[in-house]
Amino acid sequence: MKLEVIGANSAFAKEGTNSSLLLYLDDNNAVLLDCGYNVFAKLLEKNIIAKIKTVLLTHTHQDHCGSAITLLEYRKAFLGEATAIGGVSWQKLLDISEGADYSQLIKIPEIQIETMDVPHAKEMECKAILVEDKVFYSGDCAISLLNTELAKKAQIIIHDAALSTNPNHVSVKDLAIAPDEVKAKTFLTHYLPERFEEMKTAAQKYGFGGVLKSGDIFRII
Ligand SMILES: [Zn+2]
Repeated sequence: MKLEVIGANSAFAKEGTNSSLLLYLDDNNAVLLDCGYNVFAKLLEKNIIAKIKTVLLTHTHQDHCGSAITLLEYRKAFLGEATAIGGVSWQKLLDISEGADYSQLIKIPEIQIETMDVPHAKEMECKAILVEDKVFYSGDCAISLLNTELAKKAQIIIHDAALSTNPNHVSVKDLAIAPDEVKAKTFLTHYLPERFEEMKTAAQKYGFGGVLKSGDIFRII
């Protein structure tokens, strides 16, 4: 298995790509975790859309779901393939995809997924997701998930983090309470590109695995 970082940036970044991860189960079968408003263009440019058989969404903020329907429609129109979907409910997204017969666009995933509800935005369904017992992704979350069962099971944890206290995202400092062995397998994401160096310094100071960057690749056994 291989985990490739498509993007690690937050909603209002001037450049860079929204937080998005691609987990390759094998060379031709990958799971996309979140598909924000600028992710589809990046995937198209990389010529890897045929490999993305499954798309999981943590929540429906635009920087996490904004180009997901476009991806499904592209896969159907150009490849003739439905896409497995999961994570939070896609119903609202599918309902606004006017004119598309979405029963043709979607199918049920065949991979192993565990999810948990997390607090992030008021009255919005938000989930953290563990895929194949290996990769745990917080999506956006106001509290640390590093002490949860799903985090303990995972080989690698990708957690959003804010540099200072924030009502929607847990701070690096609050994540730092976790045991050293959990922090060592945790990589921080969802930041403004110009604050990368600050994130990196904070990650080093507290003993996290690092800060994600677009193009990073992790081998997962
Ligand atoms: Zn969000």
